[in-house]
Amino acid sequence: MIFTLGLVCHTELDYKLNQGDYNVSLQTGVLYVVATPIGNLGDITLRAIETLRQVDLIAAEDTRHSRKLLEHFAISTPLTPLHEHNESRQMDSILEMLAQGQQVAIISDAGTPLISDPGFIVVRAAHQQGFRVVPIPGPSAMIAAISAAGLPTHRFTFEGFLPAKAAARMAVLRALQKEPRTLVFYEAPHRLRESLEDCCSVFGDDRPAVLARELTKTYETLRRLPLRALYDFVVADPEQQQGEAVLIVQGATHAPSASYEISLDLLLTHLLAHMSVKSAAQLAASLTGVGKNTLYDRALQLSQPGP
Ligand code: SAM
Repeated sequence: MIFTLGLVCHTELDYKLNQGDYNVSLQTGVLYVVATPIGNLGDITLRAIETLRQVDLIAAEDTRHSRKLLEHFAISTPLTPLHEHNESRQMDSILEMLAQGQQVAIISDAGTPLISDPGFIVVRAAHQQGFRVVPIPGPSAMIAAISAAGLPTHRFTFEGFLPAKAAARMAVLRALQKEPRTLVFYEAPHRLRESLEDCCSVFGDDRPAVLARELTKTYETLRRLPLRALYDFVVADPEQQQGEAVLIVQGATHAPSASYEISLDLLLTHLLAHMSVKSAAQLAASLTGVGKNTLYDRALQLSQPGP
């Protein structure tokens, strides 16, 4: 008996489960974006394993880290590094392989590539050159955390990592103070305490929040408390300041009565008084959602002395 698995059944990428066997046939020149586990290896999908076995090359954020995962699943596909420092350079050789009809997969150290991880430059270029890009969905800390947080999920905003510097972090948090959607942040363990403190001061001690730490691993913690109580919980237990964490904060219950508009030039001019062109462009991009490159060009112009 043959069952076809998966909601998306491309004719060239059908999953046929036949008495325990499944076959994947890959189309020429395809870039696969493959999610891998965020801790528990049991979370890898059948499609991920078969795709990683069958592609010609796997571009991995850290090849040493990924080799262990691949060995565990008896995957012997060649690996090449793809990280934030070489992505532009690697893009050309990956595109060249796709042009020759080969298959390439992108993976990151954990979870879904491009979600606070490398891959965007290559994926964008593959689209621009007309290659097919296929997601192989699977774990992501953001989705795992929000799915179990018990905070509203009908609308949420993923904010990635908060800035490391206190002033920039506070600026980002203040810009989100009245945001009605649930806020999801990735946080480095050594900054969790400071970020929680800043969240208390911007959102108030009573805003419901969730710490989702070490998800799918042995010391998984999922704690839902008002922000100040969550801060106290983390401060009281140094264990909670280690490992990997997602911080989720409920959105503002009252939407702002008026929307505030500020010109990009005004925002950039104020930021440039306190930081470099690059930092100003980055911060303005995270505050406004406008592209970082566009803002960088404009910030550069504004930073030049006038005629
Ligand atoms: N691409 C990954 C994903 O799809 O979730 C995220 C990569 S990002 C570089 C790493 C951050 O994700 C960590 O600092 C933490 O905020 C979050 N993270 C990753 N694994 C996690 C886990 N098992 N539990 C909680 N948070 C995790």
